[in-house]
Amino acid sequence: MTQTSGVDMDKIVSLSKRRGFIFQSSEIYGGLGSCCDYGPLGVELKRNVKEAWWKAMVTDRDDVVGIDAGILMHPQTWVASGHVEEFADPLVDCKSCKQRFRADELTENRCPSCGGELTDPRMFNLMFKTFMGPVEDEAAVVYLRPETAQGIFVNFQNVMNTTRKKLPLGIAQIGKSFRNEITTGNFIFRSREFEQMEMEYFVKPGTDRDAFQYWLEERFDWYVRLGIRKDNLRLRQHGQDELSHYALDCYDVEYLFPMGWSELEGIANRGDFDLVQHAKFSGRDLSYFDEETQEHVTPYVIEPSAGVDRSVLAFLLDAYDEEQLEKEKRVVLHFHPAIAPIKVAILPLSRNEQLVPLARQVYADIRGAFMTQYDDSQSIGRRYRRQDETGTPLCVTIDFQSLEDNQVTIRERDSLKQIRAPINTLGATLRAKLDGEPMDVLPEGGTYWLGFEG
Ligand code: ATP
Repeated sequence: MTQTSGVDMDKIVSLSKRRGFIFQSSEIYGGLGSCCDYGPLGVELKRNVKEAWWKAMVTDRDDVVGIDAGILMHPQTWVASGHVEEFADPLVDCKSCKQRFRADELTENRCPSCGGELTDPRMFNLMFKTFMGPVEDEAAVVYLRPETAQGIFVNFQNVMNTTRKKLPLGIAQIGKSFRNEITTGNFIFRSREFEQMEMEYFVKPGTDRDAFQYWLEERFDWYVRLGIRKDNLRLRQHGQDELSHYALDCYDVEYLFPMGWSELEGIANRGDFDLVQHAKFSGRDLSYFDEETQEHVTPYVIEPSAGVDRSVLAFLLDAYDEEQLEKEKRVVLHFHPAIAPIKVAILPLSRNEQLVPLARQVYADIRGAFMTQYDDSQSIGRRYRRQDETGTPLCVTIDFQSLEDNQVTIRERDSLKQIRAPINTLGATLRAKLDGEPMDVLPEGGTYWLGFEG
């Protein structure tokens, strides 16, 4: 039997729609299959995932630089990379109900929907084609990139020349990719337009195995550091029959999704395949001069290739929980603070005219430093529940006592602990708590607080 995570995907789909994380694409026209739109909370969540990746892969390192290449590339790129020839899945049609399937995903040679007879498989290229310029002929064909990696390979020499860096050197990129997938589904797990976070790590041949091992561990740990439970992650090596035409070795970081263990990220040792191919097709020299050995070598490449949308889905699923509190049930997203779309909510105890100016002032002071939301509608309990459901780590409540002592209540999402903290040092206190300081550590002049919520 397939192992599953136990979290119901329908609950995540409905929460995403209800609270504005993810909507169906062009919903008012009945929707566009396997494309999605990110709402106000979803765009923050997605940006946080990308920023956490960029920080770990580029900002915090001196051996990786970033680029942002175009989605449209010279069509020869895809001949050289093997995509025109190889980037295809076997497609079968049901002769009765006309549905289409990937032959390699079927366990029987009958239609899984109606049991009808299937056609023989034919190879279906997954690249979207379009035309550049006003003439629609074969000469004007360009493709929407099916991966961001090739934009990195074709710029290898540009980056080496302009940065004057030595190997090992990584080049990172985040951007949209497009694949005309035969079967889609499982919410945002597989769509036709999606985003990737890819890094090509160029190394001297012979050092590739060590670098490969290093990136396997580093990429696995990245998810754990951002709060994904280790039990829900695993590394799986590709069998020889599974390896892509370019790969010497490959592992998937898999997550235990509701439909079972599935790929979150692929980490491949691509050898020198890409640079050799692009050198051959472009006629350019893409080798590297090794000053130690005084020889020209073609670098090997280690590629960690992650999906932004799949990561967003894994973060949502892993954070989701339903908890029984003393008096009621709450739905809560236990996001790591770096991932949480809203970091701090400012909540005046009521809309009382004396409280509002101070609450507005606190909001104005804080919002420049953190993604902050101001909410004054309905009871304080209802507002806490709303913030729990969208994963806000800290709520700041302003009450009548605040007018007297210039202190506010900070309430932490997971422990439900509350402290009173001085307004004049609030920014620093919130920063420390978001960085992981326990709630039991009080700011100067602060106290414990047992009001509002036990
Ligand atoms: P799969 O076997 O699931 O189709 P893949 O092996 O073809 O994926 P790669 O080419 O290795 O995927 O792409 C790297 C990453 O990009 C994947 O691990 C995934 O996170 C993401 N990705 C690939 N295709 C899609 C898609 N159609 N929708 C969303 N994310 C995708």
